[in-house]
Amino acid sequence: MSTLITNLGSLVTNTGTPLTDAAVVIDGDRIAWVGAAAAAPEADDRFDAGGRAMIPGFVDSHAHLVFAGDRTAEFNARMSGQSYTAGGIRTTVAATRAATDAELEANLTRFVGEALRQGTTTIECKSGYGLTTADEARALRIAAQHTPETTYLGAHVVAPEFKDDPAGYVELVTGGMLDACAPYARWVDVFCEQGAFDGDQARAILTAGAKRGLIPRVHANQLHHGPGVQLAVELGAASADHCTHLTDADVDALANGDTVATLLPGAEFSTRAKYPDARRLLDAGVTVALSTDCNPGSSFTSSMAFCIAVAVREMGMTPDEAVYAATAGGARALRRTDVGLVGEGARADLLLLDAPSAVHLAYRPGVPLTAAVWHGGVRKV
Ligand SMILES: [Zn+2]
Repeated sequence: MSTLITNLGSLVTNTGTPLTDAAVVIDGDRIAWVGAAAAAPEADDRFDAGGRAMIPGFVDSHAHLVFAGDRTAEFNARMSGQSYTAGGIRTTVAATRAATDAELEANLTRFVGEALRQGTTTIECKSGYGLTTADEARALRIAAQHTPETTYLGAHVVAPEFKDDPAGYVELVTGGMLDACAPYARWVDVFCEQGAFDGDQARAILTAGAKRGLIPRVHANQLHHGPGVQLAVELGAASADHCTHLTDADVDALANGDTVATLLPGAEFSTRAKYPDARRLLDAGVTVALSTDCNPGSSFTSSMAFCIAVAVREMGMTPDEAVYAATAGGARALRRTDVGLVGEGARADLLLLDAPSAVHLAYRPGVPLTAAVWHGGVRKV
């Protein structure tokens, strides 16, 4: 079954300059043809885009979606003047441990659906609100039913039971917990931050994960300067996430390495913190991704469009750069070559905007612009 999507006013392919008066042919779950509408081949079915803009489906490479409970009160307090620390994660840990599998699954399904309706067709999902062997493995088992991009984050914070024995917790995270989680995970991650894990602990955790075949990614330099970014580059991590507090040496390391800098403006927005400087990274030649960091504590948004708008307004990105970072950048951060672009052979993950141009994602902040979404060639919205 093939479908011709034609009369696209503009088409962001991420493989060259955007096309105008374009068309795309989907065949099965793949893109079979891309080019000028006037030259499009026949297909079984035809969809008239009415001059709207199309972009690749968003690739959200950083989200925490297996959790229970809600932290409205904490957000409310923070917006009334209290500051954010890593410790709030433990509130969600307690609620998540107390939830049934069905409750966690229902919550995750809700957020994956919410993201899809806004054009996100690839979403990464981390554990990290269980912090026991059984609860972390359960989170990843549930997540793996919804996305191939699952990340073992037993090292989100030190589990409350190990408050006085962080070394003992690192031993668990690199030992029995890793053994239980590795079958369900593609990635290993650590929150390298004051109040969470220091550089030596992070190195031990990422190295142990890599030995089990998991690829590192790092929560790095979110709240303070720290060793996270340079550790990520040194260990060949796919991504260093947050990158809010960077020295020149951190920027140089990212520019000279293969690690993507994933910026998460929802976190700074929701904690009323300083935004990362995307312009500085782009000017240095660093590959930048934009992602939601969707989680109940510090960034409770699943909207990639919101992140694009903030990145353009507050972080020095052009609209084109922000759209690229939210699609192709996310794909790079997940080491995927089949998503984040509109090209022959790529997955047919497509977002049709209710707008004539992708610039509207930043130009019309807060306005729902999803006209249609195809996921693996199937129209979902
Ligand atoms: Zn995160």
